[in-house]
Amino acid sequence: MRKIEVDSGAGFCFGVDQVIKTAEAHLREGNPLYGLGEMVHNSQEVLRLEALGLRTIDHSELSEVKPGRVLLRAHGEPPATYRLAREHGMEIIDGTCPIVARLQTKIKEVYWAMDRDTHQLVIFGKSDHPETIGLMGQVNGDVTVVSSVKDIPAIDPSKKVLLFSQTTMDPDLYKEVEEGLKAHLNQSANQQEGDLFQSDCTICGQMKRRKPGLAAFAMDYELILFVSGKNSSNGKMLFEFCRSVNPLTHWISSINEIDPTWFKDVKSIGISGATSTSMDQLQAVKEQVKKLALS
Ligand code: SF4
Repeated sequence: MRKIEVDSGAGFCFGVDQVIKTAEAHLREGNPLYGLGEMVHNSQEVLRLEALGLRTIDHSELSEVKPGRVLLRAHGEPPATYRLAREHGMEIIDGTCPIVARLQTKIKEVYWAMDRDTHQLVIFGKSDHPETIGLMGQVNGDVTVVSSVKDIPAIDPSKKVLLFSQTTMDPDLYKEVEEGLKAHLNQSANQQEGDLFQSDCTICGQMKRRKPGLAAFAMDYELILFVSGKNSSNGKMLFEFCRSVNPLTHWISSINEIDPTWFKDVKSIGISGATSTSMDQLQAVKEQVKKLALS
């Protein structure tokens, strides 16, 4: 008898879960609703919401479509998006995750309070990620974004660094960037030791807990199916981490990608996913695996 289980620590993160419930509530009432950008990096979930009536638009369409209600996703938006939506007569339903909203406020307050001749903001994140675009917008783009230690040489070593993070980044890579930045700043003769650097690791607690939880789960099963959209950076990072713990890990974005030959001679199968993968999707994968593996 094969053991086939879903990782109880997987499923949507709080912020994504909240925005999807908000979308569903509005759509259930029959209200037309635009979604600004993909609500979640998960094409199946986006299609499901669109089947309920959500119309996904991109930022260039915001001032072109017929005015109505627009839902902002959990990643948050820069102030320019709110301005544009209001100028176009849109009613904004703000789905920004409260944790992201607090980070936006914090970055804005720190920026306007600091001496910008001697201090600089640095965000560990992806410059094309919606959350980081939203954070950059809080300070008129006056921030350097580093996605890895490779970007550190671009930082001005003569100014003190105030470091923050996009909430969905890898905590281990944050530590690498922290160390790399300290070494970079220490090279500057203008800096006093101990006055170079201030670090505020704003990676979400759900993300920090996810890797240890996934590692424990992945070790318990012979084979892991990791489910996420292939365009999810969180999904890619967690898949690679999962595979480093259990080399027999396969990355799928839908049940159609499951290859039954994977299960030959395998006695236990674990199913997990990214923070943009719903529990319903993981359960559907489980049902499909049961069909294929037990047939
Ligand atoms: S990862 Fe955390 S901060 Fe980011 S949207 Fe999800 S719950 Fe909010």
